[in-house]
Amino acid sequence: MSVSQPSIFQRISTALVQWIDADYCPDGAAKMRQEPDKVDWVRVLPFVVLHIGCLGVIWVGWSPIAVAAAVILYFGRMFAVTGIYHRYFSHKTYSTSRLGQFLLAVWGGTTVQRGPLWWAYHHRHHHRHSDDEHDAHSPHVHGFLWSHIGWITSRRNFPTDYSQVKDLAKFPELVFLNRFDIIVPAVFAGLIYGVGALLEAYAPGLGTSGPQLLVWGFFISTTALFHGTSCINSMAHLMGKRRYKTEDDSRNSFILSIICLGEGWHNNHHRYQSATRNGFYWWEFDPTYYGLKALSWTGLIWGFKRVPQSVLDEGRHQEHLETVAAAARAGSAGPSPSSLKKVVPTAAALAVGAMQAAHAEAPDKAAGAAQHQDVSSLAAEAPESKPDRQG
Ligand SMILES: [Zn+2]
Ligand SMILES: [Zn+2]
Repeated sequence: MSVSQPSIFQRISTALVQWIDADYCPDGAAKMRQEPDKVDWVRVLPFVVLHIGCLGVIWVGWSPIAVAAAVILYFGRMFAVTGIYHRYFSHKTYSTSRLGQFLLAVWGGTTVQRGPLWWAYHHRHHHRHSDDEHDAHSPHVHGFLWSHIGWITSRRNFPTDYSQVKDLAKFPELVFLNRFDIIVPAVFAGLIYGVGALLEAYAPGLGTSGPQLLVWGFFISTTALFHGTSCINSMAHLMGKRRYKTEDDSRNSFILSIICLGEGWHNNHHRYQSATRNGFYWWEFDPTYYGLKALSWTGLIWGFKRVPQSVLDEGRHQEHLETVAAAARAGSAGPSPSSLKKVVPTAAALAVGAMQAAHAEAPDKAAGAAQHQDVSSLAAEAPESKPDRQG
């Protein structure tokens, strides 16, 4: 079925209104979602503005406090992306009160990554279609650049499909923040400017100003935050190791976990999405989880979901098989005098590995379906279930 294309004038006027009201779709959201998947240059403009804003540093200069603000606001808001938009709104890996949920949504809005429902809808869609042709941002299907930034500029990815986030759409205050998703970022940018102006007036020794703090705290920090977050879409299905044999190509990367505060354990997360932590083992650095743990001490959030023992065991078993396979590969290269002493342990490891493989529960198609069950069931959830408060 061919979909008639809007004229350039229609696209510009629609985009202008959509920057204020994100639910404005004159021809209907369903029709917009069927449009060709391509860059809409009108939608590129906000990204151009964001990046050009960084060049303001030429005029405003720098100061230690401005650089510190950029760093603190990067990590403070990366935590909002990972701990709030991802681990709460997309996956509900912990519980909070209705007021707590609203406060978290406002914090999430400061990331300038659209509203919580739009974010959760797209992320749940990614889990249902990881690396297949319907995945909006698979580097394997669409290439690196498209998965990193292109997909956001496509008109078909602009509207929120509220039918896929019914559990969130039943809260009018969340729908409001999602629809008018420019409010929080605009107020946030204004506040940063205001703090800079106040510091200039009352603490001139710090050497900052409203424009300087705006450039560092908003433009530079937000641009870095955008690219840091996008690395999960573009890199986390390309770079790193695959502990779990999931049906997608998700990977675990320590480097991405530093950039994205623990989200680099993406293969773990694709295997079991419902857990509050993405670093499944103690040595997997997951600052988002540590931050959420600290936040739980305030009473704002509770009810963390654990990684099932069976999933942990499966991970250890897969790593063991990897070790055995690596040893077998080394052995097949032919024994050298120096490696002869490794032959006997390798043969023993192969025998143990084969035995364990025979008894192991390898993830089959049915298990694959179970991995995706949680996002589907979240989307369909309509009645409010009383959260169960636990430590
Ligand atoms: Zn993924
Ligand atoms: Zn996820």
